[in-house]
Amino acid sequence: MSASPTLLLCSETDDLSGLLGAFEAAADELCPGLRVALWPDAGVDDRDVVAMAGWFVPQGLPARLPGLQLLASIGAGVEHLLRDQALPPDLPLTRIVDAEQARGMAEFVLWATLHYHRGLDRALQQQAQALWRMPPQRPASQTCVGVMGLGAMGTEVARCLAAHGFAVSGWSRQPRAVEGVRCWAGDAQLDDFLRPLDIVVSLLPLTEATRGLCNADWFARLKPGAAFVNCGRGEQVVLPDLLQALERGNLRGAVLDVFEHEPLPADHPLWRTPGVVVTPHMASSASPQVIARQIVSNVARVRAGLSPLHRVGRERGY
Ligand code: NDP
Repeated sequence: MSASPTLLLCSETDDLSGLLGAFEAAADELCPGLRVALWPDAGVDDRDVVAMAGWFVPQGLPARLPGLQLLASIGAGVEHLLRDQALPPDLPLTRIVDAEQARGMAEFVLWATLHYHRGLDRALQQQAQALWRMPPQRPASQTCVGVMGLGAMGTEVARCLAAHGFAVSGWSRQPRAVEGVRCWAGDAQLDDFLRPLDIVVSLLPLTEATRGLCNADWFARLKPGAAFVNCGRGEQVVLPDLLQALERGNLRGAVLDVFEHEPLPADHPLWRTPGVVVTPHMASSASPQVIARQIVSNVARVRAGLSPLHRVGRERGY
């Protein structure tokens, strides 16, 4: 038994000091006696660390902590933790699943959908030339929107779009049923899912199967003039193929919220590519309080011998 059980907040890429207060408050309330420390804290004895929470934690570090009972992502994605080949195979890995975050994602995708559906992209291009010309308008029921990924985010997004009258379909790995949404599953149904879409949204996790999924072949399978919204992960898109699809006019435009390298470097061509809207990974996030409470509750659960909530399937990669 550790003398001073500690939850280590850790990231090589992000400053997590802003989360410390929320984690300390959650620990006081939900797991009394749990100390919260920020990596690298010289005062922490490796043997006291019972849980780690973070984003891009140093590879090999979890394997060096002998009392580690839980590794928690502070976000919905986990690919940044799973890249560590040395992760102990039985170490429970969790992520954040939050209804408010899913509603935030639905808002963001609704905005991106309306951007194309109501022709805001065209109106903005015309404004640059002082051109007064109404873009074509049609009812939402005539715009087909496809959501790749019907998980915590994608399901809420698909429901929200359907509630606004859009013709919505969804695509997942296993067959799913979402009311008001035409559901497709697996690689064998990808073509049928993609073919009718006016707007396609990625809300897929980054896995070996989804890395590079949106390549030249994938863009060629879209209806000419379809628009793309990526809120999944940047590595799912082969950028030269996206740029070519835009240049050739096969792709009407793209709203990109996620990138392989974030922040997107100031000299990156995407900032200045016509037809691309760059947003800074802002689609949705859970509040510090929700993140802290979910993770600290899970620390209390594993210390009580219970399975943590929102556990990730390590073998499937999400
Ligand atoms: P979930 O794990 O709840 O859902 C993932 C969905 O993707 C599931 O429906 C799953 O299918 C499907 N999927 C996974 N692999 C494949 C595949 N190879 N082919 C088809 N479908 C597949 O994740 P969330 O909904 O919580 O989050 C999804 C992703 O969204 C996150 O991993 C993250 O990358 C991104 N995200 C981005 C944010 C932003 O601000 N831009 C904020 C939050 C999340 P099945 O249902 O069959 O398992």
